[in-house]
Amino acid sequence: MGKLYDMLQEDIRYEEALNACINCGTCTALCPAAEFYDYDPRQIVDLVQKHDEKTLEDLLKSNRIWYCGECMSCVTRCPRNNAPGMLIQALRTLSQRTGMFTASEKGRQQLALKRAIGESILKHGYCVYPRNVVFERHPEAGLVWKWEHDHLDDVFERLGGNLDGEGPGVLRKIPQESLDELQRIFDVTGGQAFYDNIEQCSAEKAKEMGMTEKEYADYIFTYNSDRHGRE
Ligand code: SF4
Ligand code: SF4
Repeated sequence: MGKLYDMLQEDIRYEEALNACINCGTCTALCPAAEFYDYDPRQIVDLVQKHDEKTLEDLLKSNRIWYCGECMSCVTRCPRNNAPGMLIQALRTLSQRTGMFTASEKGRQQLALKRAIGESILKHGYCVYPRNVVFERHPEAGLVWKWEHDHLDDVFERLGGNLDGEGPGVLRKIPQESLDELQRIFDVTGGQAFYDNIEQCSAEKAKEMGMTEKEYADYIFTYNSDRHGRE
């Protein structure tokens, strides 16, 4: 077996997720993502089972592994106790570790997730910190949302929140001591190195595409080829 398969097999989720698929298609029949996207968990499990290095590389570079919503509905129904959703998680991690995520439109958006959610967790203790949201990157949200964003303090006060405030309440300020502890957890577990690798691979891709890092970030946040749905 090749290098990529060796790496995939090191992931405990691979062993947990894949026994032997009988290609029955139950997972695809109930998968909510398969209803809307060009996505078929049965087919992905089948491709991984081929143990072909080139097939695996193509999968890691494709949009397909990024459509799953990780709802794990497939896990409850598979007659072979497989977990296609968990296998997808292992494939995503491998795509990120090897930098292959930058080869696909959906894969490149991992940088957006890292910056919008990953960094927010470390800096503020929340997945989504409202002051960090850049409106221009979410035009679909509309002008009412822009108004709310421009009047955050007022909106939070009226709703009974505690944005950046001391003490209890929604979106209260998280103590620096707790944020430092969170950072240490990311350092020790490899989470920070994982984030750094996403940044580095994305910077290389930006260069390859002839874009500045800012142009690349704006591009991956807003570009949609509209070629993801079922034909
Ligand atoms: S439900 Fe299980 S056995 Fe059936 S195709 Fe999906 S992974 Fe394979
Ligand atoms: S975990 Fe993914 S593959 Fe499984 S049913 Fe949910 S969306 Fe589909």
